Amino acid sequence: MGKKILVTGGAGYIGSHMARLLKADGHDVIIYDNLGRGNADAANLSATLIEGDIADKARLSPLFQHFRFDAVFHFAGLAYVSESVSSPDIYYQNNVAGTLNLLDTMRDFNVNQLVFSSTCATYGIPNQLPITEATPQKPINPYGQSKLMVEQMLKDYATAYNFRSIALRYFNAAGSAEDGSLGERHSPETHLLPLVLFEALRIENGGNPEDTALRVFGDDFDTRDGTCIRDYIHVTDLCTAHQAALQRMLNLPDAGAEQFNLGTNKGYTVLEVIEACRKITGINIQYKIAARRDGDPPELVADANLAMQALDWKPAYPDIEQSLQHAWDWFSKNPPEYDQNIKRNQWAA
Ligand code: UDP
Repeated sequence: MGKKILVTGGAGYIGSHMARLLKADGHDVIIYDNLGRGNADAANLSATLIEGDIADKARLSPLFQHFRFDAVFHFAGLAYVSESVSSPDIYYQNNVAGTLNLLDTMRDFNVNQLVFSSTCATYGIPNQLPITEATPQKPINPYGQSKLMVEQMLKDYATAYNFRSIALRYFNAAGSAEDGSLGERHSPETHLLPLVLFEALRIENGGNPEDTALRVFGDDFDTRDGTCIRDYIHVTDLCTAHQAALQRMLNLPDAGAEQFNLGTNKGYTVLEVIEACRKITGINIQYKIAARRDGDPPELVADANLAMQALDWKPAYPDIEQSLQHAWDWFSKNPPEYDQNIKRNQWAA
């Protein structure tokens, strides 16, 4: 039977895909988003959008009062590693204090089930690869630290209040909805995949390949080609894992706080990503090597077997080529000109 579900951050990249899937599953979906970084049109595609901040209890409480949610999917949060190093205050304010406020509002209204967007950044520089849930969590940037603090809060809430939660530790989200209806939009865009594809679009539109704006942050890491390795998971696969997490919470309401890695068990270097984008687009994308970015671990690859077992889930798009093809289809139809910041940041010769 359909549930009443609150999706915080549902105007963002992953949240908007999730809201759409929940809606398609027959749930009643309310998106709550401050639109600081999200897009109202992405949210409006899927569900009712209510504009507001998770830190604003005076706004959240009447929402809970009115809708009587069964569960919350909590995507709202800041997620730029570099920004978190230079401005940790807003990360602790939004990601930690904001979530505390959300949790307390949930308790006020006896809403006891939460799926939380956590991250592989909680592991820092892992002492083993691939990373399992038992790998020690020692974040090396405030973004990862802020998400780890929330995971700890969820464990303490489980013990004290029998609060049920599943924290999903995402590796690198990638791709777009297969039908081209939704995609990735960040402002500013800092993520590798979109930036490589923007570069392809720039060349396709007559730009000189030599004037590339694409930078590879560091080629002196201890990896197979010196560039960082990441595990790129299709956004649809992230969403189907969330769907399964909701089902698991409903089936096992007393299982406390659980945590699962969401990845593909496979890693690609930055240079391999660029090469894959050249093949998909047929465009000779160029790049320049730049200094390492603050807070970047050399290698993050998931062992997601626990999620696969417990959630009875597996990625439908395990290869990066599929994510890149969907992202390329989306960006080709929705080029980044719509956002002057992106144009200025990424397309200036
Ligand atoms: N990266 C890069 N150039 C860019 C953006 C990212 O070389 O313009 C690298 C970054 O250092 C990291 C990888 O690409 O090793 C993935 O970065 P992204 O920002 O996409 O995700 P993150 O791993 O930080 O969550």
